[in-house]
Amino acid sequence: MVKETGYYDILEVKPTATDAELKKAYRKLALKYHPDKNPDAGDKFKQISMAYEVLSDPKKREIYDKGGEEAIKGGASGGGFDFHSPMDIFDIFFGGGGGRRAAQRGPRKGKDVIHQMKVSLEDLYQGTVRKLALQKNVICNKCEGRGGKEGSVQKCTNCRGTGMQVRIQQLGPGMVQQIQSVCGECRGEGEVIDPKHRCKTCSGKKIVKERKILEVHIDKGMRDNQQIRFSGEGDQEPDLEPGDIVIVLDEEEHERFRRRGHDLIMTMNLELVEALCGFQKTVQTLDARTLVITNLPGEVIKHQDVKCVMGEGMPVYRDPFEKGRLIIQFLVNFPEKISPSDIPTLETVLPPRQEIIIPDSAEECTLQNFDSSQDHVHHRGSHPGEAYDSDDEHPGGQRVQCASH
Ligand SMILES: [Zn+2]
Ligand SMILES: [Zn+2]
Repeated sequence: MVKETGYYDILEVKPTATDAELKKAYRKLALKYHPDKNPDAGDKFKQISMAYEVLSDPKKREIYDKGGEEAIKGGASGGGFDFHSPMDIFDIFFGGGGGRRAAQRGPRKGKDVIHQMKVSLEDLYQGTVRKLALQKNVICNKCEGRGGKEGSVQKCTNCRGTGMQVRIQQLGPGMVQQIQSVCGECRGEGEVIDPKHRCKTCSGKKIVKERKILEVHIDKGMRDNQQIRFSGEGDQEPDLEPGDIVIVLDEEEHERFRRRGHDLIMTMNLELVEALCGFQKTVQTLDARTLVITNLPGEVIKHQDVKCVMGEGMPVYRDPFEKGRLIIQFLVNFPEKISPSDIPTLETVLPPRQEIIIPDSAEECTLQNFDSSQDHVHHRGSHPGEAYDSDDEHPGGQRVQCASH
């Protein structure tokens, strides 16, 4: 049991969520609420990052589960953690980060633009090409990114091209305060364009929006969360090397197959007669072929037995002729009732019963359906010989007992 579920609720997962489920939830929500995409979402991005940072770290998750948010945020036992900024977590997760790269030497680089793309298991099995239409900023062709006719762009005289304005304010006798603010003349650009010569195509903004179609090649065997990077296809900005467009694959759940690495896992329901007497069943593969699964008469399949077909799993990325296994878990449907008149017939073919000896002192009891959600305590003294059985002797323990009613 966890103390509170707030962080789990933020990520829209259950407190039992696995690492993979947390990752998937974070990826989905972080992309949705990233300030670039959703500037009105307020603190949501921050909350998602905080929740993910705590829950993805086993140590922090344990502290949170025990003591809740208070323990994580500097409570007596768990205080003193360093937390990353939401952007750092995002960059670490998606492995990019225009921010960090910009700090390195070399030309300044714009931000990477990250898009999530839903793909079916069929697409990942067979490979496909998807077209993605997006709007991006490109340098204005007409003015070549100057914002106006050649020579019409002047350094701002108000701020001498710095884009910042310093104002000195007298606070009192002998006390002054320097206030730095964005230059009002050029709005921080450091330059002004004569309105008469301003570029009409981009209205002096130097960039225009352009619709761009990207062809995304989804190769056989690609995985959930795999990234496809389009180098330099991000938004263009004057004096900045454009960032990348990064497509992050989001594998959709499949109704029949679950993927684990290169393996595909499915369940197959069998009637008892099939489990005992052999069967043939068909399976539709992800590329729409039909496989025939045969279990020969004489071979028995038990409930929850697991078998596999080699080479019918997912293709290996960049080595697509190699394939994983198709793993089949069998679920056997037992009949609800058997007619007593059929029992002698069954007894002639099934392995014989074990003989048991019932002592004279044995007590008869009734077998009932078990309901794990009910904590049913028997009535004291209802059974001879158990009258002195005190509950205190069994702290919280559940006993196997005969039902008394
Ligand atoms: Zn222009
Ligand atoms: Zn200025």
